[in-house]
Amino acid sequence: MKPVDVLIVGGGPAGSTLAWALRDSGLSVAILDKRDFPRDKVCAGWVTPAVMEELEVDLEDYARERTLQPISGFRLGLMGEKEVETRYEHGPVSYGIRRYEFDDYLLRRAADTGATLLTGTPFRQMEREGDGWRVNGEIAARVVVGAGGHFCPVARAMGARPGRSERIVAAQEIEFPMTPEQAAACPVDPEVPELFFTRDLAGYGWIFRKGDYLNIGLGREDNHQLSRHVAEFTDYLKAQGRIPADTPEKFHGHAYLLYPHALRRLVDDGRLLIGDAAGLAYPQSGEGIRPAVESALLAAQSLLECDGRYTADRLAGYVERMEDRFGRRQAGPGWLERVPVGLKQPIAARLMRSPWFARNVVMDRWFLHTHQAPLRFRAGTAA
Ligand SMILES: Cc1cc2nc3c(=O)[nH]c(=O)nc-3n(C[C@H](O)[C@H](O)[C@H](O)COP(=O)(O)OP(=O)(O)OC[C@H]3O[C@@H](n4cnc5c(N)ncnc54)[C@H](O)[C@@H]3O)c2cc1C
Repeated sequence: MKPVDVLIVGGGPAGSTLAWALRDSGLSVAILDKRDFPRDKVCAGWVTPAVMEELEVDLEDYARERTLQPISGFRLGLMGEKEVETRYEHGPVSYGIRRYEFDDYLLRRAADTGATLLTGTPFRQMEREGDGWRVNGEIAARVVVGAGGHFCPVARAMGARPGRSERIVAAQEIEFPMTPEQAAACPVDPEVPELFFTRDLAGYGWIFRKGDYLNIGLGREDNHQLSRHVAEFTDYLKAQGRIPADTPEKFHGHAYLLYPHALRRLVDDGRLLIGDAAGLAYPQSGEGIRPAVESALLAAQSLLECDGRYTADRLAGYVERMEDRFGRRQAGPGWLERVPVGLKQPIAARLMRSPWFARNVVMDRWFLHTHQAPLRFRAGTAA
């Protein structure tokens, strides 16, 4: 294969966005992914309009052959307590997509705008060659971008140790097409996903109906007995009559890092991490697609500024941009995390019953990030 300027390892939203953002830049780009696309990805598949705007997705065109579920409200509460419903009158505040379709759409678009796709090809190893790299013994690249998700092999090569010292969110999810009988037995409004915060405040579960598909899941900031928590959650939902009694039981698990707690190095000589590989999910919601897309846009700007020399010094511009956008990471727990659950829980229960808090804090601030305008990026230029 011909040498490339940028080799991106991982063709999820982070990797495909970077390749797309580098269109018209004059840089040659290839994406390596171990899977053939379309492929499934463990995810609830909820995205904010900011993501679609940043990606310049033509919603009408996207929805023509794919699931695009508009969301206009949320029901939320502490598990076992009455939920509060909040509705928005001004059009969709989020969308439900299926990662099987969304990731494939973005990857094909990256290929259409010039990236070479090397799918069905696992990353095996990388060696230094001059001031660039040789990957899998055959692909020469000036810079290698790790976009391989939480277990990204490039992140590992840069010193990350997934599953050892890192403080992870562990989550399980199931997405299945409902039969007509199951659809009739599920009262969840597709425009109003439901969120259930766990009583120990370690995470939350969700039910999310997207067209004919139902997505149910639970994520927690510790992975101790996660399957038991998931089973208790689904039993609770069945008892409440929120999901069909014959909901399949085979959930799929995955992990990710919340940005404030992630300590992975973002750059070194000729290497850079984006998306889950860098550990970027928003702390309260666990939303990872928007940070993955934004990190890719910031990485594109930084790579263009390097002018062909990708030393750690020159790539440091990416770290600065990330801190400007997402803030500084902190090694230990924040003050709120140090407050014992027994003290926090009654306050949380009261707050969650407040429609004002549910809308202005939980939804607008924590989940929708309405206070943060979408990033703007012009292809081929370093802004
Ligand atoms: C249960 C669950 C629910 C979630 N729900 C949401 C949600 O509703 N909304 C949201 O915004 N975020 C959600 N997230 C987080 C979101 O899924 C991630 O943040 C997002 O997928 C990150 O994108 P990425 O491109 O960085 O990585 P990924 O989407 O993980 O893509 C990484 C790619 O790298 C490839 N790869 C991995 N290893 C190798 C290798 N060795 N060689 C070659 N290729 C490799 C993989 O095949 C994959 O295609 C959820 C996460 C979980 C676990």
